[in-house]
Amino acid sequence: MSKTKFDSLSLPADRDLYSGLIPLHVLHHAAGEPIFGLGMIEELGRHGYRISPGSLYPLLHGLEKKGYLRATQQRNGRSLRKVYRATALGRKALEASKIKVRELFRELMEGK
Ligand SMILES: [Zn+2]
Repeated sequence: MSKTKFDSLSLPADRDLYSGLIPLHVLHHAAGEPIFGLGMIEELGRHGYRISPGSLYPLLHGLEKKGYLRATQQRNGRSLRKVYRATALGRKALEASKIKVRELFRELMEGK
């Protein structure tokens, strides 16, 4: 199948336009259950976001620094892994963001 440069469907999504959704996505999952780095990379991959550990870990640390996530060590077989949960502050920030996302979604998808 040939692609012309006018075929908008063949354009890759521009990460700069939606990168702000990634921390929101992480916070959403951390509010639901404890998350860990590699599991989150897989989860984001399922949604079509390719993110490397070198990008995800600083993001997790940033959310932790803001007080949105709290990290604890969890035993995983013979090793320990760091798991993250959303704090009360993180849940509040998530709720506030949902209002913004809902508004944007409405405008983008429904033209309202
Ligand atoms: Zn998800």
